[in-house]
Amino acid sequence: LFAAVEMAPRDPILGLNEQFNADPNPAKVNLGVGVYFDDAGKLPVLRCVAEAEKQLLESPKAKGYLPIDGIAAYDKAVQGLVFGAESEAVTSGRVATVQALGGTGGLKVGADFLQRLRPAATVLISDPSWENHRALFTNAGFPVDTYPYYDAAARGIRFDALIAKLQAAAAGTVVVLHACCHNPTGCDLSPAQWQQIAATCAERGLVPFLDMAYQGFGKGIAEDGAAVQCFLATGQQFFVSTSFSKSFSLYGERVGALSVVCASKEECARVLSQLKIVIRTNYSNPPTFGAQVVATVLTTPALRAMWEKELAGMRERIKAMRSALVQQLQAAGVQGDLSYITTQMGMFSYSGLGKEQMQRLRSEFGVYGVDSGRICVAALNSRNIGPVAAALAKVMAG
Ligand code: PMP
Repeated sequence: LFAAVEMAPRDPILGLNEQFNADPNPAKVNLGVGVYFDDAGKLPVLRCVAEAEKQLLESPKAKGYLPIDGIAAYDKAVQGLVFGAESEAVTSGRVATVQALGGTGGLKVGADFLQRLRPAATVLISDPSWENHRALFTNAGFPVDTYPYYDAAARGIRFDALIAKLQAAAAGTVVVLHACCHNPTGCDLSPAQWQQIAATCAERGLVPFLDMAYQGFGKGIAEDGAAVQCFLATGQQFFVSTSFSKSFSLYGERVGALSVVCASKEECARVLSQLKIVIRTNYSNPPTFGAQVVATVLTTPALRAMWEKELAGMRERIKAMRSALVQQLQAAGVQGDLSYITTQMGMFSYSGLGKEQMQRLRSEFGVYGVDSGRICVAALNSRNIGPVAAALAKVMAG
């Protein structure tokens, strides 16, 4: 049965982790995986999460099955966060939201649903994109192509080429967009550019699928949701996947969601019924604990305020690390414009270093980043930033 089964390639990022763990260098620094660490280099347990967990454990609930679409209060809280509780789409009941297994689960439920609707559609992802976008939509049965995105020379966005690609795309093409904190480049679209993309998708009959894995890590919760508002304003149907892995530091609890904005309440009921079939036939229903924690935090005013403060703390710490990195690179003699490091948004910086330079960073200095040149600035801290900047400066100097 398994004689012809081929060995699959290692996941590039998780493979890097294994290599990191096996490295005996005591000064090694892991800037590969997309995880936020605090200044002590630890994965934080947010206070709001610890509080909510305490409350939940004080009155333990029986562990029955959840509804297929998850905890109703959770789904409602997600809608408030993503669209605004008072937005017309939410109040008129035309958004279908289901709890999902992280942001990846939201993308997959959406992809499987779309595959039933539009089996022959092409899925467009950004060039470059989070690696799993291509694999996930390919495995869901779609041909996957890219739209131009990153301009390496200008360290910006190839916006005209991006729009031209959307304008040339066939109606029904699915367009996967990073709502904020683009992974891997850190280059985000401006509000005017989002408006133009939303208008083009509406005009051309494309199917926008916003991936929101970092809401609150860029400029703020509402600011990072601005792209969603641009799509709402056009009145078109679209998808949004949500991840709370980073914003609640709940990676392993697998807390996320999928929301589908429909044309009417009646259409929304039909769409929701189909999303439930996708879920039922994949994993039946979602797990309870993580979503209970998030729902408790989002719906308890004191915990919600605590979360917003803690999220702002993570966001500000990343920004401080970006500024410190620029200062230290300059102090180490790196010439040229480094402002891209501070203008990039979210957890990552696209350093512009090539594969060989990234390999040299690992072998000579124990600094682990992805071969694409992506480094996770959210893993820098006041202790490792000096050695990392020194290593980067040496490798940048050639
Ligand atoms: N989309 C993007 C762009 C991501 O970077 C990530 C996480 N690395 C995800 C989705 C998936 O998030 P989760 O871990 O919640 O599945």
